Amino acid sequence: MSMFCFQCEQTAGGKGCVKTGVCGKKPEVSNTQDELTCALIGLARAAGGKCPDRETAELMIKSLFATVTNVNFDEGRIRELIDKTEAKKNELGGAENFNMWDLWNGDVDSVSLRSTLLLGIRGMSAYAYHAFVLGNEDDDVTNWFFKGMKTIGEDHSAEEWLELLMEFGRINLKCMALLDEANTSAYGHPVPTRVTTNIEKGPFIVVSGHDLHDLKMLLEQTEGKGINIYTHGEMLPAHAYPELKKYSHLKGNFGTAWQNQQKEFDGVPGAFLFTTNCLMPPKASYADRVFTTAVVGYPGLRHIPEGENGIKDFTPVIEKALELGGYPEDMIFTGINGGSELTTGFARNTVLSVADTVIEAVKSGAIRHFFLVGGCDGAKPGRNYYTEFVKQAPKDTVILTLACGKYRFNDLDLGTIGGLPRIMDMGQCNDAYSAIQVALALAKAFDCTVNELPLTLVLSWYEQKAVCILLTLLSLGIKNIYLGPSLPAFLSSNVLKILVDQFNIKPITTPEQDLKEILG
Ligand code: SF4
Repeated sequence: MSMFCFQCEQTAGGKGCVKTGVCGKKPEVSNTQDELTCALIGLARAAGGKCPDRETAELMIKSLFATVTNVNFDEGRIRELIDKTEAKKNELGGAENFNMWDLWNGDVDSVSLRSTLLLGIRGMSAYAYHAFVLGNEDDDVTNWFFKGMKTIGEDHSAEEWLELLMEFGRINLKCMALLDEANTSAYGHPVPTRVTTNIEKGPFIVVSGHDLHDLKMLLEQTEGKGINIYTHGEMLPAHAYPELKKYSHLKGNFGTAWQNQQKEFDGVPGAFLFTTNCLMPPKASYADRVFTTAVVGYPGLRHIPEGENGIKDFTPVIEKALELGGYPEDMIFTGINGGSELTTGFARNTVLSVADTVIEAVKSGAIRHFFLVGGCDGAKPGRNYYTEFVKQAPKDTVILTLACGKYRFNDLDLGTIGGLPRIMDMGQCNDAYSAIQVALALAKAFDCTVNELPLTLVLSWYEQKAVCILLTLLSLGIKNIYLGPSLPAFLSSNVLKILVDQFNIKPITTPEQDLKEILG
């Protein structure tokens, strides 16, 4: 059976996965996800490009999220979503689904532009989902899922597609603001927090993914049970939220970035819970202790479903952790550079609270330049660029970071400037919203545009959330972004040329050359 998928950075040969997914996705699953996508376009058509009700919104958002890279490998669960989508579509009066062949075939530039919008919408669905489970919704955002999916099933000129991409970028900013509001109102504003990479003896559970709501429920259910909780991957910033860090059994962070999990989980006597993407096919040696929840799925892994009022019962995860018992002694682990302490919590509230110090440091020349070195991590050796870039950045520069790309360098101690650490972790990928707010505030303080600030964005991309963030940055008119480790396969040469001409997007080269070009 053949398939086609080119939605992530590790796509086969830099062109597309056609036999099986490099991520482990089987052709059956890929084709079922395409069928779901085409049914969702049918649903959006039946709904007239506008969300009809909350139940349909949830179905649209969950279904899109299930097609994001490393989220759901379970064909049966995808098929259930197709069945629900068809039923809902028929309730709304019915409409024709999009033709599956047309999804990835046709005029190369139209396919490229349509794919860019579709993949951005898939990315945004993850953020909307996390806000949704906390009860935060926004009509403009919800409606745009339906408008966008209906639009994807139509023909447009290149100019119209580009206008749609910019409109989508602005909507995604709203969606990221919605999630920021959901997280900070539920758990407080992040505060700078040191996080150990060591694991204490005794039973423990490692929580991976982005969903703070799941982590909170698990913390409540494990309190007083002699089980410690550790974050993994994109869950690291959870340590900085006051309403989460108050739990004394939230101990530290396990492992490094997501792509190392098959090596790092092997033989570990603890349970693992995946709340969102970044799940890799588990090895048989540890599959018995991996649990999924929410939209995540993998055949054979135990799934924790949502119960009444969204409450989940994590008893099977807790029992597995107790059965495994954890390490008999405290264990010392390090990040990839040998450090055993990470710092997080430099989100917008914290950074803006010291804005005067930052502005003064820039004016006095103590801080010469800011780099936002952020985005996803991945397996390619070329991603070493980001470690080297940060190591080589001059001592009078500050590194802002977010998302899991930071595991390349977040255990480095780069010292401080004027009392501020030289590496400031702003949070998960969604916290690009924080970075944008800080950049806009600095631009206001210096009475200039963001493009005129001593700030350069050096981004690493892997999956679809990076696509929606990139479109938001472009919709804000942000130029001169360095992008790597390779350019998306779904950008045709003509579309890439347009982006380069309009926004001066630059592929990364070497740390030495790029630093020289940026700093002069
Ligand atoms: Fe290939 Fe990435 Fe698609 Fe997986 S998600 S099938 S690796 S392009």
